[in-house]
Amino acid sequence: MLKIFYTLLDYIFYKKCYFCAKKAKKNITCDKCLDKIKAKGSKKTRKISGIKIEGYYFYKDEIQKLIRGVKYHDKKEFAGDIAGILVEFAGNEHFSAENAEIIPVPMHHKRQKKRRYNHMELISEELSAITGYKVNTELIKRIKNTKPQYKLNQTERRKNLKDAFKVNPAAYSGKKLIIFDDISTTGVTMESIIEELRKHNINNLTGLVIAFA
Ligand SMILES: [Zn+2]
Repeated sequence: MLKIFYTLLDYIFYKKCYFCAKKAKKNITCDKCLDKIKAKGSKKTRKISGIKIEGYYFYKDEIQKLIRGVKYHDKKEFAGDIAGILVEFAGNEHFSAENAEIIPVPMHHKRQKKRRYNHMELISEELSAITGYKVNTELIKRIKNTKPQYKLNQTERRKNLKDAFKVNPAAYSGKKLIIFDDISTTGVTMESIIEELRKHNINNLTGLVIAFA
């Protein structure tokens, strides 16, 4: 009887690792798989509009599964795992003494309503919980419901994102901003946001992505 009780407790409180199906207590990825994923990452930088963008993965394998899970498949609990991985890589560079704000790339309100949440906000909140950095979702809004970018080439992407973002200068704290996106492919999204911020003389910027594609 007791055994059944404990099995039941296990069933309620433990989750199965998304990758190896072994028990994972707190996170959805077990410690062993999380270590394996971390071992595959390394710092990569690109410059977009003169701003250094840092990322840690190429968009494939486990990290792709985690991103796709939180983005498309309602696996909100992946946000914590992804944030944990990022802080290990970005700790010194982005989340050190200088106080900054995290700016998750915004989703148009219509798309957010349809998807029910912006996964970048979820990951940002988890980053904030670890680092103490504030998340600012008021500074930049996506005012154009843009088409998904993945089918478009670079020129079409630029056209698609033209005037897509709007900055609310009143929401600017004066702090350094960490613009945070999941994947950077051609860099056009980052570029549009950087340029929109520059129109308001907001120049103390850095970029953070999980993966480059
Ligand atoms: Zn595992």
